[in-house]
Amino acid sequence: MNDSSKKAARTPKTTPITDDYEISTTVLGLGVSGKVVQCYSKTSREKYALKVLHDSAKSRREVDLHWQASGCRNIVNIIDVYENNYSGNKCLLVVMECMEGGELFMRIQDRQDGAFTEREAAQIMREICSAVKYLHDMNIAHRDLKPENLLYTKPDQAGILKLTDFGFAKETFSKDTLQTPCYTPYYVAPEVLGPEKYDKSCDIWSLGVIMYILLCGFPPFYSNHGLAISPGMKKRIRTGQYDFPNPEWKNVSQDAKDLIKGMLCIEPSDRLTIEMVMRNKWIALYTEVPLTPLHTGRMLREGEDIWPEVQEEMTRSLATMRVDYDQVHIKNLDNSNNALLNKRRRKGSTEPSVVQ
Ligand code: ADP
Repeated sequence: MNDSSKKAARTPKTTPITDDYEISTTVLGLGVSGKVVQCYSKTSREKYALKVLHDSAKSRREVDLHWQASGCRNIVNIIDVYENNYSGNKCLLVVMECMEGGELFMRIQDRQDGAFTEREAAQIMREICSAVKYLHDMNIAHRDLKPENLLYTKPDQAGILKLTDFGFAKETFSKDTLQTPCYTPYYVAPEVLGPEKYDKSCDIWSLGVIMYILLCGFPPFYSNHGLAISPGMKKRIRTGQYDFPNPEWKNVSQDAKDLIKGMLCIEPSDRLTIEMVMRNKWIALYTEVPLTPLHTGRMLREGEDIWPEVQEEMTRSLATMRVDYDQVHIKNLDNSNNALLNKRRRKGSTEPSVVQ
């Protein structure tokens, strides 16, 4: 999919949201950028989730990218966006589908109906990968793909797993990047544009971590005995040191382990792309994946106390990765040997050499 096939940027409604929705006091969740409350359509009486954001360039970008991605079955759809004033503050009010089934891993942890199997894990991975494929095809990197951003529509079997929270999403190869004030396409060498791969590879790393947790109930970069944060952990993440300990991994297929290795590859440019992941037989032929019972449910229950630390650590790792990869953009620009760029350098341009 290219830029022209993307949905045209939509404009928020400026009429009061209360003309169309009744806003309840029930809080569905608290996020860093604001709270999410329940609301009801005045016409259909249908229940929705409302995220309130302070109007800023950052929240505009979040809403814009999330809105563009809203056609995907595995992405929480935006229904309406309003731009309203509250006591002099401009707010963006985002009406989304209401996700009533809770977070992915809570659901696996709470399961009563027998063991979670490798085939179910493959099915879930396929759903998450479809969301990532949809985004990457639109040249959007999510960059914050973590367990708490994966929610189910309904608590029962009919529930669909969807990805949300576009707070760190980024257009990877777009007119926006090229129209950053200090750049026009003439100055930008192909190798400078290349690092868009880095932003996407961040999502693949997340997929690897999520797949690992799905298959055993604990994350790859933690010590086995439940100590969430150890001094060497950051190093282990950077150097890609993790293993598949027994007994949890004993019966898990080699295909699954190989796929994880391809996604958790240390060097981002060596990591699988989403196309390669989707073509991998463990994902593409998920209905043929063995029905091996996994230890996931039990391990999640046993590790319930350290789950907040697991989440925090993944949040921190993703933040570090975003900074590191943004620096690759700058570094590549400094190192690039583009004739026009060199000429511009000789001229002693004072403009900053940063591609956002
Ligand atoms: P932030 O980007 O500020 O962290 P999120 O978009 O992640 O905010 O939302 C914060 C919390 O609100 C989520 O963890 C979740 O519990 C809840 N939430 C978000 N979107 C929905 C939704 N569409 N339906 C139900 N609950 C939601």
